[in-house]
Amino acid sequence: MKKNKKPEWAPENSGSEYASSVMPAVYSTEKPKKQIHKRRQLTVDDYTNGVLESNTVVLSKAITLIESNNIKHIELTQEVLKRILPYSGNSIRIGITGPPGAGKSTFIEALGLYLCRNGFKVAVLAVDPSSIVSGGSILGDKTRMEFLSRENNAFIRPSPSGGTLGGVARKTRESIIACEAAGYDVILIETIGVGQSEITVRSMVDLFLLLLLPGSGDELQGIKKGVVEMSDLIVINKAEGNNKDRANITRVSYNSAIKLLTSATEGWKPKALTCSALHNEGIENVWSNVNEFMELTKNSGIFKKRRNEQLLNWVKSMVEEEVYRRFFENDEIKKLKQKLDLSVLSGETTPTQAVRSLINKYFGDK
Ligand code: GDP
Repeated sequence: MKKNKKPEWAPENSGSEYASSVMPAVYSTEKPKKQIHKRRQLTVDDYTNGVLESNTVVLSKAITLIESNNIKHIELTQEVLKRILPYSGNSIRIGITGPPGAGKSTFIEALGLYLCRNGFKVAVLAVDPSSIVSGGSILGDKTRMEFLSRENNAFIRPSPSGGTLGGVARKTRESIIACEAAGYDVILIETIGVGQSEITVRSMVDLFLLLLLPGSGDELQGIKKGVVEMSDLIVINKAEGNNKDRANITRVSYNSAIKLLTSATEGWKPKALTCSALHNEGIENVWSNVNEFMELTKNSGIFKKRRNEQLLNWVKSMVEEEVYRRFFENDEIKKLKQKLDLSVLSGETTPTQAVRSLINKYFGDK
């Protein structure tokens, strides 16, 4: 730009007010501000020591690391887990399921408070399949377990969101290990009674507890027969006041119905009990039944056998998930599948032929 050049449209007798000029540059004499450094990343030692010292801030961060899908974090997680694994395994792992509104969070809070007051350290984890679909968490959205969350000996962690159910299962299993290494004696794992989550939770706990409402049958409460069969204890909640009689009738009918089912745990006869989580009634009785279960299964060796099976099944299910992921993410498989889908739909290829072609493409012709 030329200095003091007037534009063509400026009136002839105008002065310098229409002229454009180049301003001298302004240089700041101030030193550039220092970049704020990100907080130092915790090292494997920091995570390990913090968890083993039962530092809840570090435990939370360790679980955040476990929940990360970032490949670097997954590697760091595995290093930490390897170091804390020898200190894990010493808890009672309890799965808790039941239809929405049965009172799961109220029950967990009542049981958790009872346990904290009796000298236990309690961790609450959750498996929430809705978080996989919505990316959010039904369980996490509510302010839950207000009193329990204020207890020093309680640690509450909402459900990890995102990823597949298998991914959520890995994260929950690894979080159990972290909580155990941090000295938590009882781990309560909550699930909402929908989808596949009950089976997933059953596969990671020692005892599975089903919470129900008085009255209506399980099909009316949206509970499948399979879930009743998976349970070691069935607890009819809200058994107080006018509901007490109905709750007792429900308890008796479940007790006779479960006699006909195969036990979820070898050597243990499942039982139905009643309680009122809101009024803190029957909680102690639930806990004494848990103890009875633990004593019986530990003495018979079933406890150890189940834990071993669960560990090996965990490895197997992770292999399955990884093979599945790699298969369907493979570019050649994607292309071939697109073609085969069309010919299956048009009737040129049978589904079995299509499967063979896909499998042979990936694994080779065996
Ligand atoms: P969740 O959806 O299974 O977690 O159920 P919540 O714990 O959120 O409880 C659902 C509703 O039932 C809440 O309003 C609770 O206050 C109430 N509730 C839970 N336990 C009891 C109980 O023992 N008696 C009564 N009367 N209400 C209860």
